[in-house]
Amino acid sequence: MQIKSKLPNVGTTIFTIMSGLAREHNAINLSQGFPDFNPDQKLLDLASKYMNTGFNQYAPMQGVLPLRERISEIMQTCYRASFNPDTEITVTPGATYAIYTCVAAFINKGDEVIVFEPCYDCYTPAIEVHGGIVVPVELQYPGFGIDWNLVKSKVNSKTKMIIINSPNNPCGTTLTENDLKELENLVRGKNIIVVSDEVYEHMAFDNKPHQSAALYPGLREQCIIVSSFGKTVHTTGWKIGYVAAPKELMNEWRKVHQFLVFAVNHPLQMALAEYLTDKSTYLELKNFYQNKRDYFRKLISGSRFIIEPCTGTYFQLLNYKNISNEKDTELAIRLTKENKLASIPLSVFYTNKTDNKLLRFCFAKKEETLEKAAEIICSL
Ligand code: PMP
Ligand code: GLN
Repeated sequence: MQIKSKLPNVGTTIFTIMSGLAREHNAINLSQGFPDFNPDQKLLDLASKYMNTGFNQYAPMQGVLPLRERISEIMQTCYRASFNPDTEITVTPGATYAIYTCVAAFINKGDEVIVFEPCYDCYTPAIEVHGGIVVPVELQYPGFGIDWNLVKSKVNSKTKMIIINSPNNPCGTTLTENDLKELENLVRGKNIIVVSDEVYEHMAFDNKPHQSAALYPGLREQCIIVSSFGKTVHTTGWKIGYVAAPKELMNEWRKVHQFLVFAVNHPLQMALAEYLTDKSTYLELKNFYQNKRDYFRKLISGSRFIIEPCTGTYFQLLNYKNISNEKDTELAIRLTKENKLASIPLSVFYTNKTDNKLLRFCFAKKEETLEKAAEIICSL
């Protein structure tokens, strides 16, 4: 059989490769981003409660109303933005799916989509599968700031979408108020949809509030906001997230959604809805992860790595230029096999495989895991 691949240049994701290698070599896994601790027992008990009380058939296509109401409350509490639970919020099987569906619903063959590199790895394949053209803009290293003049120079009549991500994976950085205003001015009056991947929205550190697109009225009108409960309540394996967008965009988005998955895991939606009535479940998250960040950075402060700034997410970048000249992909593999510590090399998130000698380490881990990892990092 002749297969004409829609993704001829795509292999297996770096997360699958590095987590597999970590298992094979019995290495500490700070590569793929997930907590090595369990979610709150209260949440697990609620999941079991809803499974045992009859919530085991299809959920509504939009998501269960109590959860959509909670999401609306989160948007109001955190960003003073009102989203109608009936028409402007939909529950999704995770953020990856949500982003894919944004592209499926709005990108036609030949449409251009601007992404910022290093770029979370699910964006560009989604664009390519739908015949869209990826227009990468490199963030400026060090610091990973956006050169807005460069962005403006890439916008033309074919530009249909801009995907942003703050707090940023893999950089661990956050966009500023000025960035969001630049974007708001750039898209105003144009037929450009902004997809704002805000899965780390509750993990912005150092008392600098997360700059959600929901805070900017001009942006909000042209934007689909994506988030994921995987990050917020330590349940990456549940794959439940959501999109929030103005009614007209949401109508179109749901046309695709209803035929891609139709509905999302019912008892887990109910459990999340009840759990999230306690606002501390998301409002306290930034302190929880800021403490982990600080603990990890303190443990590795004596190492030969350069510790990059981390203003959000649960990822810490380390620059190894004082330690080795190796390619980042080679070093990440060697450290996993020989030193028993797995990380993620940054170059895989660039179209041109730009290698700034950076590895990404996930600190969503128990203290003892961070201590063991730090010992290895300090020995290099
Ligand atoms: N976007 C970013 C930036 C991410 O880091 C992740 C990671 N998990 C996702 C989207 C996907 O989230 P989900 O697991 O809910 O699909
Ligand atoms: N978002 C997670 C990370 O960046 C991984 C998700 C995945 O494995 N696809 O590590």
